[in-house]
Amino acid sequence: MGKAKARLKEKPNVNFKDIAGLDEEKKELEEVVDFLKDPTKFSKAGARVPKGVMLVGEPGTGKTLLAKAVAGESGASFFNISGSEFVEMYVGVGASRVRDLFDEAKKSKPAIIFIDEIDAIGRKRGEGRSGGNEEREQTLNQLLVEMDGFDTDTQIIVIAATNREDVLDKALLRSGRFDRKITVSAPDLKAREEILKVHAKGKKLSQDVKLEDIAKITPGYVGADLANILNEAAILAVRENREEITMKDLDEAVDKIGMGIGRRGKKISEYD
Ligand code: ATP
Repeated sequence: MGKAKARLKEKPNVNFKDIAGLDEEKKELEEVVDFLKDPTKFSKAGARVPKGVMLVGEPGTGKTLLAKAVAGESGASFFNISGSEFVEMYVGVGASRVRDLFDEAKKSKPAIIFIDEIDAIGRKRGEGRSGGNEEREQTLNQLLVEMDGFDTDTQIIVIAATNREDVLDKALLRSGRFDRKITVSAPDLKAREEILKVHAKGKKLSQDVKLEDIAKITPGYVGADLANILNEAAILAVRENREEITMKDLDEAVDKIGMGIGRRGKKISEYD
């Protein structure tokens, strides 16, 4: 196996319990986990299991985490590639790269092939302005050929992620391809508190810290932002030679992260 291929394959150490909130999304993916663990149960019942699952949601909402957890829960090998990586490749390489990827996955089944930013290769064909379209279309065609070519008992599930569902080629969403769509939503108040708790693990919080209050001032923040808030607050504490994170650190971190992403939390002091 070449170096590039070896880099792609992982056995992720992520489980559903590591993901806060996203209960509906996890429930829908549990069926995929069941299938990867025991495909005969499904084939005996004559049930058709999806070959492909499309995760649709804003950046940072936990799509990669969910895909990794499906692998973690089922013990499947995890192959991770981004759609934009295919596009950046030399001419003629994209399609053969797709072929290699599926060949590798077949050798390591059960397996999950995770394609982040599927929109980079999966845009509607025949549209678009820039050059390199032919290359992209060949890559997309090869992906469709591969997905049509394996039976559901192959024990390979392709999970793709996008935040641009509107630009996707309809052929991708046809039956037998990515025919299961899961919308990954931004966290509500309760989920934000749970995500903050997950990322507070292993960090010392001072007694005045109420993560519930941080959750209240961060509507619109996604999981990745909330993880960043705790990290940033920890850095602020270290800067002042403190081991404990205070509410003030968190408040400042909310502001800082909010500025970076064009969202602004309220100051705790402004909050009543
Ligand atoms: P992108 O579209 O940018 O690839 P994504 O939707 O795949 O984003 P992830 O990469 O899964 O998002 O999430 C980024 C990080 O945010 C995770 O590594 C994790 O630290 C944190 N995170 C996101 N959602 C959750 C969650 N529900 N529970 C715990 N942590 C979360």
